[in-house]
Amino acid sequence: MSSCVFGPVPSRRLGRSLGIDLVPFKTCTYDCIYCQLGRTTRKTAEKKEWIPVEKVLRDIKEKLETMPDYITFSGSGEPTLYSKIGELILGIKEMTSVPVAVLTNGSMLSDIGVQESLMEADLVIPSLDAGDEDIFKYVNRPHESITFKSMIEGLKNFRSKYSGECWLEIFLLGGVTGITSEVEKIAAITRDIMPDWIQLNTVSRPPAEDFAYPVLQSKMMEFAKIFGENCEVISEGNDIFKETHYRVTLDNVLGMLERRPCTIKDISTGLGLHENEVVKYVQKLLTNGKLKCVKRKEHVYYEGIH
Ligand code: SF4
Repeated sequence: MSSCVFGPVPSRRLGRSLGIDLVPFKTCTYDCIYCQLGRTTRKTAEKKEWIPVEKVLRDIKEKLETMPDYITFSGSGEPTLYSKIGELILGIKEMTSVPVAVLTNGSMLSDIGVQESLMEADLVIPSLDAGDEDIFKYVNRPHESITFKSMIEGLKNFRSKYSGECWLEIFLLGGVTGITSEVEKIAAITRDIMPDWIQLNTVSRPPAEDFAYPVLQSKMMEFAKIFGENCEVISEGNDIFKETHYRVTLDNVLGMLERRPCTIKDISTGLGLHENEVVKYVQKLLTNGKLKCVKRKEHVYYEGIH
């Protein structure tokens, strides 16, 4: 079984983030129209130990020498569908002081067991992309067991109990939620949830559906004001990772690109390789039929073929 750990990858939010992939590609409770991983192939709300927890801990231990800023549960789908996520967080805490972050779509937070399993995480970043049921269904295309109401109640309930940092990611889409009246609806809900921080995001990598459009940066800045002082627009392309302390292999590059499409620059900053070196790795993977190339505006992204 290949490693479920990838990176460190450059994260716009978390610096050099060691990614942990807890579910098979692409297992999620949602099938978001903007998803950079493409369409959901296994839409489920059933929790499972998809990979033995001992193996995940072993894989993480092997990569701790890369000195990441965060250990982050993200990757090929929704990490709270991993039934032993609580045990895993406790295992990591025994092994290292590197903080643990969980990027979740928030849909499973209505499950008390999932809430409790995340209590020891240092940072939880749930998503909220809609202000009502209709838009929720259109944007997130949730599993049939998940309603907008249950998702919002779960978020509020979790926030009221959790003592770690809780940020909220709000993904806005041009012509859908990237309009003032929809942003105001979402902002009203965030005032009840009371996250420590809000991050506004929009399409910057190839989305699952062609009809998922980005919102102009100038509009994003205007919308951020509606959420108040604790809100920022996430910007692309910070040079976070300048040098590396471990040898990069072809598998490292492929592992990164199987989880998300990246530009040459993204790979370079993520793996600490000079861009000229990255080009050689990418060329080899393209020749071997392991990658495809996707153009979006002026950027070229490389994506692992599953
Ligand atoms: S964006 Fe996240 S929540 Fe939405 S389908 Fe993709 S992996 Fe699932």
